[in-house]
Amino acid sequence: MYDVTIIGAGVTGCAIARELSRYELKILVIDKAGDVCEGTSKANSGIAHAGFDALPGTLKAKMNIRGSRMLEQMAEDLDIPYRKNGAMVVSFEGKERLEELYERGVSNGVKNLRIITGDEAGMLEPNLSNNVTYALVADDSAIICPFELNLAMAENAAENGAEFMFDTEIKKIEKTQNGYLLNGSIETSTLINAAGVFADVIHNMVCEDKIKITARRGEYHLLDKEAGEIVSRTIFQTPTKMGKGILVTPTVHGNLIAGPTASDSDDKDDVSTTQGAMNDIKEKAKLSVPGIPFNKVITGFTGLRATPDGGDFIIQYSAEGFIDAAGIESPGLTSAPAIGEYVKDLYVSKNDPKEKENFISKRKGITRFAGLSMDEQNELIRKDGNYGKIVCRCENVTEGEIREAISRPLGARTLDGIKRRTRAGMGRCQAGFCTPRTMEILEEMTGIPAEEIRKR
Ligand SMILES: Cc1cc2nc3c(=O)[nH]c(=O)nc-3n(C[C@H](O)[C@H](O)[C@H](O)COP(=O)(O)OP(=O)(O)OC[C@H]3O[C@@H](n4cnc5c(N)ncnc54)[C@H](O)[C@@H]3O)c2cc1C
Repeated sequence: MYDVTIIGAGVTGCAIARELSRYELKILVIDKAGDVCEGTSKANSGIAHAGFDALPGTLKAKMNIRGSRMLEQMAEDLDIPYRKNGAMVVSFEGKERLEELYERGVSNGVKNLRIITGDEAGMLEPNLSNNVTYALVADDSAIICPFELNLAMAENAAENGAEFMFDTEIKKIEKTQNGYLLNGSIETSTLINAAGVFADVIHNMVCEDKIKITARRGEYHLLDKEAGEIVSRTIFQTPTKMGKGILVTPTVHGNLIAGPTASDSDDKDDVSTTQGAMNDIKEKAKLSVPGIPFNKVITGFTGLRATPDGGDFIIQYSAEGFIDAAGIESPGLTSAPAIGEYVKDLYVSKNDPKEKENFISKRKGITRFAGLSMDEQNELIRKDGNYGKIVCRCENVTEGEIREAISRPLGARTLDGIKRRTRAGMGRCQAGFCTPRTMEILEEMTGIPAEEIRKR
């Protein structure tokens, strides 16, 4: 019998698990995928939004602002890549729309916002289009690694006692006298729904009043690190009712991304990329930054926004012992730490659990061999020769790091699991070179025969 079971090991579920692991509770996180961070949390823009986009007074605005403030400290505590690079929303016409966003930002409590002319914007970002007339600058916008954020919160929750169960799809939920029975075998007092685009399916199994979440596809181009410095800030165009529009941004690891598109889909599993969207992104991104070298694209990907009918995040007790964290579309990544805290407060106010005395608040990330000084690298190799063997040449990832990724709490068991923990396979050859060696190491350390090792 678990005190709390969370469906979904994305950034929302793991943030909630981490917050609740501060208490003497038996916690289970369940996911139908084989690892954490297999849903939308792995396919987004990786931006810690400053908070000028969400409508004032909404839960979305509140979570965005609180989350973006919490993220900076969390990045330090959990050893996650984070860079406050700032953002710019560019206009090619008048500045009325930017003024609206500025006012929204001010009412939401965003600091360090200003509107500048196109010429001033061009001085800050020399590769910006000459057609930019005005720009809204937000100095507090940042870029983060979405994988590491998700993984770090999961690992920290696991270190604090939360259990994780993968490859388990929840298909049946029954109300019992003491809580809920999942798939006829898992008993829990409280059930938390953090199932991303499928959160309506889970909600509708439990609650009388039904909700609808639409998958809104967002496709991207990911470019090689050679293109990563064409802009230093995140460059947005003015948002539409479908989303924040096509952006161009460096990633925290030094690549460049352009996207996302926005189109609603009936298929909540469809993360294919399409030629039409890829062409569309090129055309629109070049309006802001004409010189983007699209011949340096190394891959494309698609993420699915969990767009709720009502427009706002749904975070509440929706039935007895059942908490929804549903409709968590953008800025869900930024908001995750705040959503974790908010759900924890909801739970604590009803159940009054005992706080742990020995909660582990910090976590050390995987060694980044390439980021160490020469002396530190030599010292490490003297201690463990595996750090002297490069497996992924594109990202300079060593065998020592891959071994760490497998042996950590919630260690990697798939190629993508290793990729997201170490970056082996994230580079320009997209794992063409390192896959065979990575598989050998996985087989040796886990006993999974090579032919049974999954990509994800
Ligand atoms: C194109 C795009 C760009 C974005 N850009 C940003 C950005 O720059 N900044 C930002 O703050 N936010 C951004 N977001 C939003 C952010 O990525 C999401 O809000 C966030 O990742 C949602 O996390 P989640 O944990 O709620 O969902 P997910 O990561 O999708 O996790 C849900 C999990 O539930 C599991 N699950 C579902 N059903 C079941 C079941 N029946 N049984 C067991 N498991 C189940 C799934 O396998 C999945 O792992 C973007 C989103 C998209 C799509």
